[in-house]
Formats: sequence, C-alpha cells, structure tokens
Amino acid sequence: MSRTFWGMRARDALIAAGVVLLAAGAGVAGLAERKAAANLQTYQTKYYVIHSDLDIDTVREAAARLTAMAEEYHRRTRGFSGTIRRRLPFYLFANPEDYHAAGGVPGSTGIYKRRSLMALARPGRRGGVWHTIQHEGFHQFARSVIGGKWPIWLNEGLSEYFAHGIWTGDNFVSGVIPPTRLRRVKAMIEGGTVRPFPEMLVMDQADWNAAIDRRNYDQAWSMVHFLVHGDAGKYQKAFSQFVNDVAAHRPWKLAFTRRFGTDVVAFQNTYARWWMSLEGNPTRERYVQAVVETLTSFLARCFSQRQTFDTVEAFFKAARDGQLKDHPDQWLPPKLLADVLKPTAALGRWSLDKDRPLPRVVLHAADGTVFTGAFTLRRTEVTGVKVTISLPPEAAATRPAAATRPRKQHRR
Ligand SMILES: [Zn+2]
Repeated sequence: MSRTFWGMRARDALIAAGVVLLAAGAGVAGLAERKAAANLQTYQTKYYVIHSDLDIDTVREAAARLTAMAEEYHRRTRGFSGTIRRRLPFYLFANPEDYHAAGGVPGSTGIYKRRSLMALARPGRRGGVWHTIQHEGFHQFARSVIGGKWPIWLNEGLSEYFAHGIWTGDNFVSGVIPPTRLRRVKAMIEGGTVRPFPEMLVMDQADWNAAIDRRNYDQAWSMVHFLVHGDAGKYQKAFSQFVNDVAAHRPWKLAFTRRFGTDVVAFQNTYARWWMSLEGNPTRERYVQAVVETLTSFLARCFSQRQTFDTVEAFFKAARDGQLKDHPDQWLPPKLLADVLKPTAALGRWSLDKDRPLPRVVLHAADGTVFTGAFTLRRTEVTGVKVTISLPPEAAATRPAAATRPRKQHRR
C-alpha cells in the first residue's frame, strides 16, 4: 500500500499528492462535471480518496473524520458488512458552482451519487455539512460494502442514525438522541401521525422521493434507533440478522416477520411505548462521554509529543491558551477542542490519573458516575482512545438507563 496521508506531514502530503488531477471517469462523468473536478487535488487516506480544492486544514480534518467515520460504520455493522477493499471516492468542494456542476442538487450540502460521496463545505457551516456527509456516507457504505436491496426506511433510518454520531478526534460516539428530535417523535406518536408500520415498511424510493418529508426521516430514524437500543437492546440481535438477510438479497418482507414477528401492529405499539417512556435528554451520558473522549484524544497527542501536565488544571489552562502541542501526523482541529472546553466546568470534578505509565482523564459527575478516558500509543502514534463509564452502585440498581447496558461499559 502506498503511504497514506496520515503518514506524512501536511506540506509533504500536498507536494506528494497535490498535483494529481482527476482523470475522466474517476467517479464523476460528463464534460461540465469533469471541468468542475479538474481543479481538485487528490489525497489518499486510509479508506477514502479525497478530491478537494479546500485548504489543507479542512482536508486534514476531513481525512481524520472520514477514517473515524468508516471505522464506526464497520464497528456498528460488523455482523453484516464486509470491508472496504477499494478506497471510496469523496469530493469536497469549496464553491457551489463546482458542486452543482458535479451533480450536487441545488439546496443540498451533500449527496451520494454514482458511487461517489460529494459535499459542499461552506465556511461557517462545517458542523451541518458533516451531519450530511455522515448520512450520505452511510448510503455509500451500504451500497459499496454491505450490498443487497434495502427497504427505504432502513437505509434512511440507519443513515440518520450515523448522521447523529459525534466525532471525538479518534472515534465516533453514536446512538445519541437529540432532545429536539425526541420531542418531535413523541409529538408524532401522541398526535397519531406516525405512519402505520405496515405502510412504512413497504414504502419504496419513489414514494419517499414523491414527498420529501422530515417526518419520514424522523420516523425511519426512530425505528432504527429503537431496534438498536430499545428495551435494553432486546431487538439488536434480531435487527442485525434482519440486515444480514437484506444484505444477502433475501426477501426482506419475509425476513422482517421472521425476525420481529408477524404482528407488525403490536410491534409498532411496543415501539411507541418505548419512545413515550423517554424524557428530556435520555442520552446525556453519551454526550458527556464524547467530551471526555475528545479531551483524551488531545491529551494523548500532547503525551506523544512529550508534553505532560502535573494537574488537570494545567492541562485545561494550556488547552484554553492554545498551548497544546500538535501531533505532526495526527493533527486535530483547534475548534474540536474549543467546543468541548466550554461545558467542562459544568460537568463535574475533573482530575488526571497519573498512577500509570499513560495518564488518564477522569470526570466525577455530580450523580456519582465516573468517566475515565484512556489512550494507547505505539511509539508516538495514538492507536486507541476509550472511555469507561462506572455508575455509582445505587444508581446502577435503580436508574432505568443503567439497565440498558452493563455496569461497566468499555467503548472503542
Ligand atoms: Zn438519505
């Protein structure tokens, strides 16, 4: 394998890969599209070939996000997906005209078309565009790596599931329920506007496209989220088998009833009951986990560059002052750090656990939950970051959320 983008310093990467122009047929076709693509530079990353005319920091961020994104798709679909054998094409445009000329739909910021993932990175709207890229990227992954003929609710629902994933530098935290979306789902259930499952399950692409409706996306996402996490993960195995059936080109209608039972209406009632039992911010813990995980990714980079801290306060002060050392090959954008520094004070008591060769970031939340962020290194390369969550004994016994996963959760 040729050297990946990660193996090089940014400047070297530009020199090595920056002059490669797109050839016709490299994913986009047609004269106008080729013209638009002609100004793009090409970068090889671990799972994607990035074509972009954006600045090097934006491309470096894209490379880091795409690597973590593909690994999260893989991790979560392990039971039924294959592996990325050929790098997937990704086009990131600076100008709307070029994006549209390449086939991007006006009004959209990202699209999956003809095997290619394309997006428009408009300044100041990075967060929004990555929600779209994670969504469209899953369509590309499903088509290229999983295969099969997918029912639309499953394809859109899983794409929305991954769209909500939070990038933490080395990983993604997925499975979050944004409170605003929870309110919309509950309002649909209460108002009786949930599309009956027997109808939703047989919707096809044409029905979906005939009336693009946010409620369809909300419902598809809520169905997938329920199948993955609902009732303490009870349906996760059956769901995995169901997607496996779909990927193996088995008739999915039969597969659905085989995996979830023939009484689809009763199943819809179970779904509705579970969603109505959720309140406020039910995945708050995952949001906090994302903060701890991000800080750990930055601490790992400092440590790999021989920058150490006596106290967590010293680490936070250096972080706020922009004094954390960059990693030459595993750079992370300062904005990622700035975003997680804001809420730290409100989350609880922080410390650094220095009783081991590699330090750990520890958060003692007010309710007694302890989040511990640990990292691994191979020489100076950060090879893994994970957060362990320990619930206080009494909470583990009484808190409903505690029943949804083991007392100690290891996440990678
Ligand atoms: Zn979609």
